[in-house]
Amino acid sequence: MTQLPNSTERKMGLVIDLDTCVGCHACVISCKGWNTENYGAPLSDQDAYGANPSGTFLNRVHAYEVQPPEGAAQLIHFPKSCLHCEDAPCVTVCPTGASYKRVEDGIVLVNESDCIGCGLCAWACPYGARELDAAAGVMKKCTQCVDRIYNDNLPEEDRVPACVRTCPAGARHFGDLGDPDSAVSQLVDERGGMDLMPEMGTKPVNKYLPPRPKDTVEEQIDILAPLLAPVAEEPKGFLGWLDKALEKL
Ligand code: SF4
Ligand code: SF4
Ligand code: SF4
Repeated sequence: MTQLPNSTERKMGLVIDLDTCVGCHACVISCKGWNTENYGAPLSDQDAYGANPSGTFLNRVHAYEVQPPEGAAQLIHFPKSCLHCEDAPCVTVCPTGASYKRVEDGIVLVNESDCIGCGLCAWACPYGARELDAAAGVMKKCTQCVDRIYNDNLPEEDRVPACVRTCPAGARHFGDLGDPDSAVSQLVDERGGMDLMPEMGTKPVNKYLPPRPKDTVEEQIDILAPLLAPVAEEPKGFLGWLDKALEKL
């Protein structure tokens, strides 16, 4: 068992706008590229050009079709990576102390030299956000690009996670969610930012901004209403359906 800090000085995290994400996967590719070439390198692939390709990705984008009672279906693109939870079960379950949460910024990391590849943390994470690198035999996950965000050798505009720097739709935002005056906190307040699967009690730092209704058709607004409402104990409607879909991943 590994201990979590009682609190962290900052809560650095991502705010992902489900309204403007177009599912282009540019964030997936830039994440793979940066992390393969730098910290934790490489993120291995198996049978990359064969019949059954697989590989290690720290950020994935899923797509779901939502069908209202009438009218056209709406496609939701859903990027998912580690949410850097405040009560991270992936840390407390780790038998070696390899998984840890940093006091200074709240980022959850894996010390690969202490990881024995037991997979307990991936089992404990309710979001499927950790990936065992099959070639290295160690667990890997989103680092929020710790090797970029504090890197004085990079131009200031590049000192953000690679996915944020790359997103052509401006759907990814990065900052201190522990500071109520930060731009990301204000964005969450303005747009009704949401936790993913709050019923798991993990207190994710990352937030999602719900999709806006696409027109004034009442049924379409209704089907998206659960996303815009305060988080319920038992998620219903679209959010409940999304929870069930994510559980199957
Ligand atoms: S999303 Fe999963 S891997 Fe990331 S901190 Fe939360 S429980 Fe751990
Ligand atoms: S796979 Fe590594 S990081 Fe995960 S619980 Fe086991 S030792 Fe800890
Ligand atoms: S790069 Fe931006 S728009 Fe493209 S899939 Fe990622 S979050 Fe969505």
